[in-house]
Amino acid sequence: MFRFSTIKDYHIALQNGQTTCVEAVRCYLALIQQKKHLNAFLDVYEEEALKHAAALDLQRTQGALLTPLHGVVVGLKDVISYKGHPLSAGSKILENFTAIYNATAVEKLLAAGAIIIGRQNCDEFAMGSSNENSAFGHVKNALDETRVPGGSSGGSAVAVQAGLCMISLGSDTGGSVRQPADFCGVVGLKPTYGRISRYGLIAYASSFDQIGIFSNTVDDAALVLEIISGEDDFDSTVSPKEVPAYASLIHGEEKKYTLAYFKESLDHPGLDPEIKAQTESFIKKLTDEGHTVKAVDFELLEHVVPTYYVLTTAEASSNLSRFDGVKFGYRTDQKDIDLTELYKDSRSRGFGKEVQRRIMLGTFVLSAGYFDAYFTKAQQVRRLLSDKTKAIFSEFDAIISPTVPSTAFKIGEKSSNPIEMFLADIYTVFPNLVGIPAISIPLFKHSNGLPFGLQVMTSHFDEVSLLRLSKQLASMAN
Ligand code: GLN
Repeated sequence: MFRFSTIKDYHIALQNGQTTCVEAVRCYLALIQQKKHLNAFLDVYEEEALKHAAALDLQRTQGALLTPLHGVVVGLKDVISYKGHPLSAGSKILENFTAIYNATAVEKLLAAGAIIIGRQNCDEFAMGSSNENSAFGHVKNALDETRVPGGSSGGSAVAVQAGLCMISLGSDTGGSVRQPADFCGVVGLKPTYGRISRYGLIAYASSFDQIGIFSNTVDDAALVLEIISGEDDFDSTVSPKEVPAYASLIHGEEKKYTLAYFKESLDHPGLDPEIKAQTESFIKKLTDEGHTVKAVDFELLEHVVPTYYVLTTAEASSNLSRFDGVKFGYRTDQKDIDLTELYKDSRSRGFGKEVQRRIMLGTFVLSAGYFDAYFTKAQQVRRLLSDKTKAIFSEFDAIISPTVPSTAFKIGEKSSNPIEMFLADIYTVFPNLVGIPAISIPLFKHSNGLPFGLQVMTSHFDEVSLLRLSKQLASMAN
């Protein structure tokens, strides 16, 4: 059966005539059908994908050189715009909405020869840590179907985990790529804020949002990152910095790194004791291999989750105001009501509970009487975190930590307790608050049979070190 662990192997097989893009697409389509109950895909573009694959196969027989993502089968989280295709952000308010343009990342994927196979389920407006907030039903973790895949990019993580596509693009505002990657045992990369254009990504919290990549290997993530990064006239927050050749630079020489970890992260009472023990023995192994690993104080740890939730809900309350039942999306069918009632009713019926909670929270922290107490305070903490980050990277190459304090939890286990759910983000929100790149690499297995990852973070725009180090760490675990 068709099964390739890396894009490189797939390309070699294509060149040797051992497989075709059509065969690849057929295999993925068959598996998607077989694993339909996981609810990872909201739409599958069967005919289109096969047609695209056939065109690529023809190009090859006519002697065309392989483009970097020739025939690579990709799935898109339901917050990334793909022209002419449905786009709903996992929400009823956008049900039946069709994207009218391509996200820049999608344009770049297509130009590099990728085949887009479908749209993937996620938490509504990317708000959640378990994929239980989707208006289109929850997603199941393929390793244990009674458990969540993580969120908000749950469908995208499961799609790579269960072999339903080679690569998924998700979005990461506070961990939505790394956390589900951890729960599903795949690689999840969130680049530096400003590395990939956000044009065509439905906004949750604009100063945090970043498109991220799910893959089976660090090498594949590096290649996709190289293709979709870079300056964009449609997004002024993208850096004009040149995009390094990540896919080849990742093969740099192995070296000894100076790594930091946060004492408070490993001592946190919410951390599963086995995740702590395995992370500690991995740190020991790193030291034995000649790397320098030191504990660093991080007194601000207790403040990162509240800071994240104050700032992101504030931004969300503004970003989501455009869904008002007038411009696009769902509109109430109530007649004879005034404009304010129309807004209210459309939003009350169109948005799910979690999104409504966050809009209200965000509106509250921005309100005149509370602005300074919450919003300004949180901005000050964000600044302190940035200062702290700069200081750490003047001394260390990277920071390591667990990605999530627990392994994948049971469906329904935390859905009635938002505070407990928010705490699942304790290690992942920090990189978004300060804008640095971070990755979750699937290094470990818990005695409960579930995988978990190690999170690695480097300085702004130092994805080359992030990828090199991650590759080195991944090989240590093998
Ligand atoms: N779990 C976090 C939240 O609910 C992260 C979401 C994300 O990164 N999109 O906000």
